[in-house]
Amino acid sequence: MNRPIPGTVEVGVRHILSDKVTGFLVRTRRITWKDGIFRVRRPQSGKQTVELNCPVCDASLLAEVRTEARTRRTRVVFGVLAALCAIVFFAAFAYAVHEGGKTLPEGQSLPTLFPVSVVSIFVTFAVTPALAIRSRVYNGVTLLDAPKPRRRHSIRPVRR
Ligand SMILES: [Zn+2]
Repeated sequence: MNRPIPGTVEVGVRHILSDKVTGFLVRTRRITWKDGIFRVRRPQSGKQTVELNCPVCDASLLAEVRTEARTRRTRVVFGVLAALCAIVFFAAFAYAVHEGGKTLPEGQSLPTLFPVSVVSIFVTFAVTPALAIRSRVYNGVTLLDAPKPRRRHSIRPVRR
């Protein structure tokens, strides 16, 4: 069993081997990658930059590590935002159904709030799951910069 060590965080450095989009009407994205696991020490305060070397291609990647407290706070913020977006989603949905279901008298158009609510539904529908995931997996480590092949790398949270 791998127990979390206080003051450190495990991150996966993902090297994208290939990223192909195939198909025309139905697009399938096929990504293959290889992950290397690193244990990174968290700073006592503020943030710290660490260098990680990709185990596949040896590219050096700069990552920013934040403190445990800061990470926890950021996770809470993501959680609150996700909850707010969910509330907006349901409120806008209820409103749109309510207004859209009305039979309007001749020559009267829907209130301007109607398109706003429709847009809100789409936006919150797209954003809420991403925020909810962030609030659970955010680990305070973000990829800063890397030489040329930056686009082919990402830093993933490691979950146990
Ligand atoms: Zn690499």
